[in-house]
Amino acid sequence: MGGWAVRVRGCGPAAVGAGLCFAMLAACGGSADRDPPPRAPRVSPTATGESPPTTATGGPAVNGKVIVIDPGHNGGNADHTEQINKKVFVGNGYKACNTVGTNTRDGYSEHAFAWDVANRLARVLREWGAKVTLTRKDDTGVGPCVTERAAIGNRLHADAAVSIHADGAEPSGHGFHVIEPVAVGKNASIVEPSRKLGTAVRDAYRSGTGIPYSTYRGRDGLDRRSDLGGLNLSTVPVVFIECGNMQNPGDAATLSSAPSRQRMAESLAAGLESYLR
Ligand SMILES: [Zn+2]
Repeated sequence: MGGWAVRVRGCGPAAVGAGLCFAMLAACGGSADRDPPPRAPRVSPTATGESPPTTATGGPAVNGKVIVIDPGHNGGNADHTEQINKKVFVGNGYKACNTVGTNTRDGYSEHAFAWDVANRLARVLREWGAKVTLTRKDDTGVGPCVTERAAIGNRLHADAAVSIHADGAEPSGHGFHVIEPVAVGKNASIVEPSRKLGTAVRDAYRSGTGIPYSTYRGRDGLDRRSDLGGLNLSTVPVVFIECGNMQNPGDAATLSSAPSRQRMAESLAAGLESYLR
């Protein structure tokens, strides 16, 4: 049973129908003095038939929250290398504005993978009432630069931002890892909440997809890096996820499967739900 790490045990459609969930959750609900919670959206069961998460205030915790999704790379990058190779300041040095990304041996590109999962994730989150912004509007354009990708979340004062990638590592390596920021200046205040976000996303992705932790990077599915502009320049809680290794045949098959990508998207949504609870 894929499952939602945040799903309340025993909360199947019948239990929700019988209002059992509310009784159980009342204890950890929100405080009275906040603004009235946004009206719980009417949400339909997810593709796996699971009922959407609920909180004491009725709807999912992501309801009314601002979430930025960054699908890595872009489809037009390969044909505009002069543009994407331009150096930009990433908080502790200069790096290329953007990169082409990797692909599977069968030619399935990372940018297309990221675009697909990002849109699936956005659909689930919007159904749960979240205000979702993607950092690019299609899979045929160029960039944006890593600086702009961070700036989009900062401008929106996002409650959380997630950058979606798939790795291009040695074919023997497999599994996923979540990348968290380290303090490099303007991002100092978001390092701690980003670690909470990282753990929530790691746990939900692991239980929701069954994909193992990376065998070649990080520890227990978590890594910390100071060389990514999207983490260094963020002033909102942010993580990157390498959803699997496109160079590994087993991972490549999983990443190339639409039902698997749907599970990945739903698991990421569950991770955000758990973090924002
Ligand atoms: Zn990437």
